[in-house]
Amino acid sequence: MTRPSGAGAVRGSCLRCGAPVLRQLVGRHAALSVTADAEPTTWAAAFALREPNRLDWCLRELSTGPDLRWTTSYPSPCPHSHVIDHRCPAGTPAGRRPEGTLW
Ligand SMILES: [Zn+2]
Repeated sequence: MTRPSGAGAVRGSCLRCGAPVLRQLVGRHAALSVTADAEPTTWAAAFALREPNRLDWCLRELSTGPDLRWTTSYPSPCPHSHVIDHRCPAGTPAGRRPEGTLW
């Protein structure tokens, strides 16, 4: 389920809470392993959720699938859909949820 950097995002689910997420290694030199909410939102909404340790990402739909990019290199407001780093809901048990668990 992993792909090399630059190959776009992979749709999956959070190992803790099961929420749909996008995973991607973003960046060429100092790549960051990103797990973002799969639900796209607007630049403004994602920016409002942004924190020092929670980044928002520009979401491009390419022919090869979704692709996450750093937001900082684009003029704001950005016209593309954005996603925000995934954060499990409060109360989610620490650690990986048991295999086969349905929510
Ligand atoms: Zn989660």
